[in-house]
Amino acid sequence: MGQTARTTKLLLDLSEREQGGANRDKRRYLEETVAILDDARVFYLDFFLAHPNKLMERVEVVSKHTGEATPRLLSADKLLTWAEFETVETDAHPDPRPQWNFSQRFPDFPNRYRRSVIKDCIGKARGYLTTLSTWQRSGKRKGKPGVPTAANHPTLYAGTYSLSLDELDLRKSFVRLKVYTGKQWVWVHYPTRYNRYFEQRRSEQGWETESPKLILNKQEASIHFLQSRTITAQKIVESKRDPDLVTVAVDLNVKFLAVVTVRQHGVIRETRFVSDHGLDQHRYGHLKRSAKKQWQSGKPVKGERSNQQLWAHVRRQHGDCAHKTARAIVEVCEQYPGCVLLFERLRVIKPKGGSKSRRLNRKQANQLKGKINQLAKEKAYASGVVSVEVNPHGTSQYCSRCGSKGVRFTFQAGQRVPGKGGKLFFCPACHYECHADFNASVNVHHSFFREFHWQPRPKKSG
Ligand SMILES: [Zn+2]
Repeated sequence: MGQTARTTKLLLDLSEREQGGANRDKRRYLEETVAILDDARVFYLDFFLAHPNKLMERVEVVSKHTGEATPRLLSADKLLTWAEFETVETDAHPDPRPQWNFSQRFPDFPNRYRRSVIKDCIGKARGYLTTLSTWQRSGKRKGKPGVPTAANHPTLYAGTYSLSLDELDLRKSFVRLKVYTGKQWVWVHYPTRYNRYFEQRRSEQGWETESPKLILNKQEASIHFLQSRTITAQKIVESKRDPDLVTVAVDLNVKFLAVVTVRQHGVIRETRFVSDHGLDQHRYGHLKRSAKKQWQSGKPVKGERSNQQLWAHVRRQHGDCAHKTARAIVEVCEQYPGCVLLFERLRVIKPKGGSKSRRLNRKQANQLKGKINQLAKEKAYASGVVSVEVNPHGTSQYCSRCGSKGVRFTFQAGQRVPGKGGKLFFCPACHYECHADFNASVNVHHSFFREFHWQPRPKKSG
């Protein structure tokens, strides 16, 4: 049993009006809303930090099961009620504390937004006070925790937004948001960049919806829908006893990002190669050019695309590539319900040898591997597949058919040229020949079942 979460983005269409998007004021309203919510958060953060004793007050809570009374922190709901009583004007309670009068500072502030802000601040302030007291008790001079910042993405509780996605014409779908115009709070319709993929994820069975968040960037505005799900999967020890168990092994590499092999009853049933489509070469080209320019001039070249842009470019490509590769791996798993996903434990390799840009490129490739590994595990778990890390020892050096030590080689002009970087694998004992990454992927199954105790290469005769 475990929990998993995921986010689905719904982009708001804020392009120019003639292209069917919203007008400029709509973008400004969103900015105003984020700003006023941040201001409100500053207010409540100050308020809570001025009352640390209330925030950390402990009350006796009687357990329903055992009947024992244990001291606990005040619940967030109780704190919220208390904070509202102290700061908000109501008919029943017309005078809150004069120096903390929220209703005067922020007239007509919607209740739902106020509550989301207060809850947010309770979490922030409590977290800060806890780390602060730990730091004080530790007696250290360095590392004093900083006061939390008030900025955050607005959480949209029910009552501050509504979705109209059930229209027949999906292109006309929009979301209704309560926003601040700079003077007052109004409901505004925002057209969305709606897609089928979003609807499919939103209505998928078994996922529980949580409060969405409004994310406002320089380039785009979107609503992030959070969903969570409880996963029930068999324990690995139990699945290992199953004679019909399907194992899906993944070997992560550079040119072929992933080689996926599926095995059942000791036989490889399916293989999938996921190529990087030239990403490694492409990245190397960028790094080489930037390194050369820096070396020639001693500093980043003016007028050229800056390194910052270059790294953003690489980062985007990696993110995209890692998601797609992880998806491809999970797609294989989904065909075999109840299977187990096997990975090699990633080794920490420090790239050495070659030029600076080459070393840099290796480092990036390693990072991409880590990312694919992490994403594939998460995505697999969301569909109920558990992954296992196996010992990587020997998987790329030994023969997956007989278990003796083999050699790597390449074909050059019809001749076998042995070499460390060779893409092909040859076993001198049983004369098995195959793609080196495929061999490694098959060996991952062997490593999981502990079938081979890798034997040394037989001595050459004659
Ligand atoms: Zn062999």
